[in-house]
Amino acid sequence: MRRSLVLGNWKMNGSRSSAESLAKGIIAGLGADIADIAVCVPYIFLSDVAQIVKNTRLGLGAQNVADKPSGAYTGEISAAMLKEFACKYALVGHSERRTYYGDTDQSVAARFCQAQEQGIIPVLCIGETLEQRQQEKTFDVITAQLDAVVDLAGIAAFNNAVIAYEPVWAIGTGLTATDDQAQEAHHFIRQYLSAKDQAVAEKIQILYGGSAKPDNAKGLFAMPDIDGGLIGGASLDAESFLKIYHSV
Ligand code: PEP
Repeated sequence: MRRSLVLGNWKMNGSRSSAESLAKGIIAGLGADIADIAVCVPYIFLSDVAQIVKNTRLGLGAQNVADKPSGAYTGEISAAMLKEFACKYALVGHSERRTYYGDTDQSVAARFCQAQEQGIIPVLCIGETLEQRQQEKTFDVITAQLDAVVDLAGIAAFNNAVIAYEPVWAIGTGLTATDDQAQEAHHFIRQYLSAKDQAVAEKIQILYGGSAKPDNAKGLFAMPDIDGGLIGGASLDAESFLKIYHSV
């Protein structure tokens, strides 16, 4: 039985003080240890939030990581730097990075490897645009996104990774994939992995992301191949994030 994971993605929101109170609010409502839970916060707040989550069950993550270990890469943050702030997770390949900042399947694969080299769990975000879904290219897109990482890192690397299936058309739009649409994609991803290594496929947490909310989380999380969620907007409010967490 896989343990679920609920991961918040705060994106570029909040202030130093609101980040602190949000983290404190989440910790206060955690309750029983039913699943893994963590928040991916803006880089600049990592230090503050790291102090707050210390010795609690709330884990910490970053929203990206550099594709190189160090050097003349102005504005980038390396995996080794993240490690200093107790980051357990780093998102790689979020669709907003792919769409607005030019992250490619290849650079995402390099980021994935950089995270793992520092013992940080990469959360590989994959998913199709609306146009790609309408053209029935969903599985081709997902396959290409996964192939790039498998080619660079090898299938065994997925022993220490998380995958987030996030249909781009559902992120921040209020449109959620139906339980069956999400399950179909998650099943496809698990089958893809299983064809290469069954043990990896059975173990890996595959999260759903895309307008997950307290009122739709239970149905999504009940699907057999959905092991929790990557939550954007609804993770900015402790109460709704905790309601989602308590839906696993
Ligand atoms: C996300 O940022 O990964 C996400 C799923 O956002 P939202 O929940 O707001 O759609």
